[in-house]
Amino acid sequence: MRSSSTPRYPLVLVPGLLGFISLLGYPYWYGIVSALRRLGATVFPVLVSSVHSTEVRGEQLLLRIADVLAQTGAEKVHLIGHSQGALTARYAAALKPEWVASVTSVAGPNQGSELADFLARKAPHGSLRERVLSALLRAVARCMAWLERGYQGEPLPIDVAAAQQSLTCAGVAAFNALYPQGLPETWGGEGAAEVNGVRYYSWSGTLQPGGTNKGGNRFDGPNIACRLFARTFTREAGQCDGMVGRYSSHLGTVIDDQYPLDHFDIINQTFGLVGKGAEPVKLFVEHAQRLAAQGL
Ligand code: CA
Repeated sequence: MRSSSTPRYPLVLVPGLLGFISLLGYPYWYGIVSALRRLGATVFPVLVSSVHSTEVRGEQLLLRIADVLAQTGAEKVHLIGHSQGALTARYAAALKPEWVASVTSVAGPNQGSELADFLARKAPHGSLRERVLSALLRAVARCMAWLERGYQGEPLPIDVAAAQQSLTCAGVAAFNALYPQGLPETWGGEGAAEVNGVRYYSWSGTLQPGGTNKGGNRFDGPNIACRLFARTFTREAGQCDGMVGRYSSHLGTVIDDQYPLDHFDIINQTFGLVGKGAEPVKLFVEHAQRLAAQGL
């Protein structure tokens, strides 16, 4: 029998750009799926195109949700998306709200990423720099598809330009005009807690010198990358996780936007190496309990 701390509906975890389920056994949601399963939750880490537009990824996600509903007999799912996975989840919930109990954005660029804007400025469409970066990203994506062990479906398409367009502030603004569910009406505010029967939540972190760059992160390359990327931010300078700004991440009920976690720490990467005293896995477990407490 389901305990009161176990969510009623399956949890579908949606990865971000260059997302995966399991690379030769190494999970994207490091220690998170197992922690949620220990709670008794039914959990499906899913794969969509690792590099593509939010709309194409969102259509793929709708197919995955249909599979989960058929497989489990559940009426709805909870969608938890990291980074571009949050936008992907928002798209699916906008099109099929009857399938979705909640959307949770974890470090989602819900108003775009200043890092994507910086790259678009530095490597404009058609430039040599853009062609080199695109080729590199395609090669990484193909290599990851080859190493993927958690996915058995058809090969998924890759489109670097579409992915980039989907992550810039202008690209996300166009997306938001079509799919505004759960967005705050004012910069830095909260969004509606529920739209079309779907609950909306978000949480995110910021780089905090003396915290996020200590502990396990002293040995973690992605943390160094986040600190470099953070220098490209102007609107949210000093208020970002390296890839997404604090206020850009807001969606629905904002659980917190200042956890001492960089953009990778927030999914417990890499190998659980996170800043001093940070507990990213606990945030997922507490959230599952939060959903369960509402009977969802
Ligand atoms: Ca880390």
